[in-house]
Amino acid sequence: MTIHEILKMGDPRLLRIAKPVPQAAFDSDPLHTLVRDMFETMASVDGAGLAAPQIGVDLQLVIFGTDAVNPRYPEAPLVPRTVLLNPVITPLDEEEEDGWEGCLSVPGLRGMVPRFKRIRYSGFDPYGDPLERTVDGFHARVVQHECDHLIGKLYPMRVRDFSRFGFTEVLFAGQPLPPDD
Ligand code: ZN
Repeated sequence: MTIHEILKMGDPRLLRIAKPVPQAAFDSDPLHTLVRDMFETMASVDGAGLAAPQIGVDLQLVIFGTDAVNPRYPEAPLVPRTVLLNPVITPLDEEEEDGWEGCLSVPGLRGMVPRFKRIRYSGFDPYGDPLERTVDGFHARVVQHECDHLIGKLYPMRVRDFSRFGFTEVLFAGQPLPPDD
């Protein structure tokens, strides 16, 4: 297994529109290896999610999940460990919710980001089986954050109120941190 370098904001590879995972790659050894490496990479930095473009892989593939309590974020709600290929997100209504976000590609910073509160997402698992869920709150936020990486969007591009964007240790001095994706 391999822990990959996580690209940081400013790298043009984070701004690409990722390519769909071709059907021929479903359930293949290279895909399973990539997914394992991504989980290992995410765990090495206690992340809550990781998108393939963050390790320079130009594919519509995200992983996320916090089904064990993350030592860095003991307060974060649990989200099932998920691998999602070629995702499609559909907001269920117009309602948005503000929440703090961080990103492994934007280390040391946090920002308040509005996201759709309720979404349905669909796609495929690494075996090519369809996956569809209706979720809300933190789970919906994590999925929207990760899938933004597939269209070249980093969360600072979604911040509307820049008075709530800053350095983690200043914003959250002595408090539990919101998760990094
Ligand atoms: Zn991120």
